[in-house]
Amino acid sequence: MKIICIGRNYSDHAKELKNEVPTKPLWFMKPDSALLLKNKPLYYPEFTKDLHYETELVFRIHKAGKYIEEKYADKYYDAIAIGFDFTARDLQAEAQKKGTPWEIAKAFDSSAALSEFIPIEEFRDLNDINFSMKRNGMMVQKGNSSEMIFSIEKIISYVSRFVTLKIGDLIYTGTPAGVGPVEIGDFLEAYIEGKLLLKTEIK
Ligand code: MG
Repeated sequence: MKIICIGRNYSDHAKELKNEVPTKPLWFMKPDSALLLKNKPLYYPEFTKDLHYETELVFRIHKAGKYIEEKYADKYYDAIAIGFDFTARDLQAEAQKKGTPWEIAKAFDSSAALSEFIPIEEFRDLNDINFSMKRNGMMVQKGNSSEMIFSIEKIISYVSRFVTLKIGDLIYTGTPAGVGPVEIGDFLEAYIEGKLLLKTEIK
């Protein structure tokens, strides 16, 4: 399986990092070795001094497809989770400055924390999903799926022009404003509709 991540999909977050709001989905990938499951802790990597959390809704692909039309894209995912797209912000800034790839900042081991999945049938309205994150008990990120610049259907349609989507692939759909650094000893908790689904301790 592969992990596809969307960058700058919430305009308030694009602005906080002083990035332009994109006109088409900006996507990158993490390898399967990036997954951090079962609320395991994240060990602060030695290669960065500025590790950031980004809290994101994650969609699970359950049908393979290529050149998927937007109007049929809702048939290609079956469940939603919450995850952290951990980012070495210092390495990302360096890569952006030099125009080199982002993998060293985004694709490292344990950089994709993931909760259990909730079947889409359990949601009242997929365009109105509230999610949030507390760092050490303080609410630092709050988002709603309606604020995404590109809907999951648009993302699936666009990305599947380039790569075949396969069963079990994951799509991290971008983070709202409020990203920030973590420190050793931090405790992160992520929620969908007020339900605690993901806990990550930074060790
Ligand atoms: Mg992200």
